Amino acid sequence: MAVSEPVRVRIAPSPTGFAHLGTASTALYNILFARKQGGTFVLRIDDTDMERNRPEYEALIYESLRWLGLDWDEGPDKGGPDAPYRQSERVDLYREDAARLIKEGSAYRCYCTPEELEAERRQAQADKRPYRYSRRCLLNPPDDRSVFAVRFKVPGGEVTFTDMVRGEMRFDADLIGDFIIMKSDGFPTYQFASPVDDARMEITHVIRGEEHLSNTPYQLMLVDALGYKRPVAYAHMPLILAKDGAKLSKRKHPEANLALFREQGYLPEALLNYLALLGWNPGTEQEIFSFDQLLEAFSFERVQRAGARFDWEKLNWMDGEYIRNLSDDELATRLEPFLQNVDGETIRRAIPPLRTRMFKLSQSVDYLEYLWTDPPPPSLDAETAQRVRAAVDALRPTPWEPEPIESALEKAVETSGVSKGKFYNPLRDALTGKKVSLPIHYAFALLPKDKALSRLERAA
Ligand code: GLU
Repeated sequence: MAVSEPVRVRIAPSPTGFAHLGTASTALYNILFARKQGGTFVLRIDDTDMERNRPEYEALIYESLRWLGLDWDEGPDKGGPDAPYRQSERVDLYREDAARLIKEGSAYRCYCTPEELEAERRQAQADKRPYRYSRRCLLNPPDDRSVFAVRFKVPGGEVTFTDMVRGEMRFDADLIGDFIIMKSDGFPTYQFASPVDDARMEITHVIRGEEHLSNTPYQLMLVDALGYKRPVAYAHMPLILAKDGAKLSKRKHPEANLALFREQGYLPEALLNYLALLGWNPGTEQEIFSFDQLLEAFSFERVQRAGARFDWEKLNWMDGEYIRNLSDDELATRLEPFLQNVDGETIRRAIPPLRTRMFKLSQSVDYLEYLWTDPPPPSLDAETAQRVRAAVDALRPTPWEPEPIESALEKAVETSGVSKGKFYNPLRDALTGKKVSLPIHYAFALLPKDKALSRLERAA
C-alpha cells in the first residue's frame, strides 16, 4: 500500500495483569510495519481502568517487550511529541473532546441509573428485540439529577473502512445504540479514549487484535464526529488461540503469560520467529527467519484471518534450532542466569553435550543440578554395589576428561559382563540422583573427580 504521510503505529496495552502473549505478537506486527515504512512505533499505556491498573504490570510490559527486542520510539518512559503517553495523564483531553461533542449536539449527558438501564435491557429482552439505549435522557432529560455519564449520539448509517488483512469492511451503525464515552466517575471509556488518542497522536495505521474489529465502527464514528482525521487503514490480526482452539485464558493456558517464556529460557529471537509465523505465512517452506528476514518477507496480505493456534511442540522445535545455532560464547552467556551456581569454565565444558539436548535454557538446570546439590545415595543390592566399586577402581587412575572416562567405563562394562544400561544406571543414580542425565562420561567429567568418586563410594 502506498503511503504518503509518515507512518505512525502504536500498541496500547492495559496494565491490568501480566503481560499477554498477544501484546508481543501485536507489537511485532506493528514494528515490522513501522520499520518497513520508515515509520514510528508508539507505546501507549491504556490505563483508564483505575481499579485494575498496577504500576508493576506496566513495568512487566516494558520488560517483556524489551526482552523481545521490540523497543518503541515514543512512550511513557521515553517521551515524544505527543506526551503524555499514559491515558490516565490525558484525562483533560478526553473531557475537552467530550465537552465539545456535547456542545455540538453529538453527545449528551445521561443521568440514568444502573437499575433503570437494567430495566430497559430486560424489557428489550422480554420484547425479543436487540437492546439499544432508549435516548430517554436526550429526549426528555431529568432536571433533578446531577450524576451523569456522557453518551455519544450515534449518527447511524454505514461505517466503512479498509482493513489490511480483511479487505473492505462495512458495518451497519443503525444497529448500534448510543454508547457511553465518559463514565460518571469522569473517566473515559476505552471506546472513546482510544480513537481520541489515535487521532491526536496521528496514528496512521491501527494494527491490533481481531477482538477489536467490532470496536472500529464505534471509534470511527467518534473520529468523524470530532472532525479528526481517520487512520489510513486498520489491520485486525488473528487471535492467538490455545492448541485446542479455545480462547487463551490466563488461568488455564500458561502460554498466555509472556514472562513465562523468559523464565523458562526460550530465546527471544525464537519466540519472535514463532509468533511471526503464528498469524502469517511467508508462502514458502522457510520457517527460520531472522528479524531482518522477517522485515523483508512480511506483508499483511499473507496474514491469515482465522484464529492462530498456539503449538508448544512447534515452538520447542524452533527454540531448539535457535539454541543449536548459537555460538559457544553466546550460549554460555545465555545460560549464565540459569546456572548461577556453576562457574563459567564448567558451563563452557557442559555446552557440547547440553546444546543438542535442550529446547529451552531452563533444561540446563535439570541436567546440571547435581553439580551443586548432593543427591541422596541410592540403595543398591550387593551385586550392583560390587559393579559400582569396579567403576570406582576403573575411574580412579583415569585422567578427568570425557574421552578417557568413556573408554575406562566401556572397559569396565566389558569386564562386568552386564549390559551398558545395567552398568550405567546405578552410576547415574549415585552421581546425579536422576534417571536422565547427560551422557555418563560428560556427567562424570563435569564434577570434580574426588566428589564424583566419593558419591559412588558412598552408594557402594
Ligand atoms: N487497551 C486495549 C487492549 O489492550 C487496546 C486495544 C487497541 O489497540 O485499541 O486490548
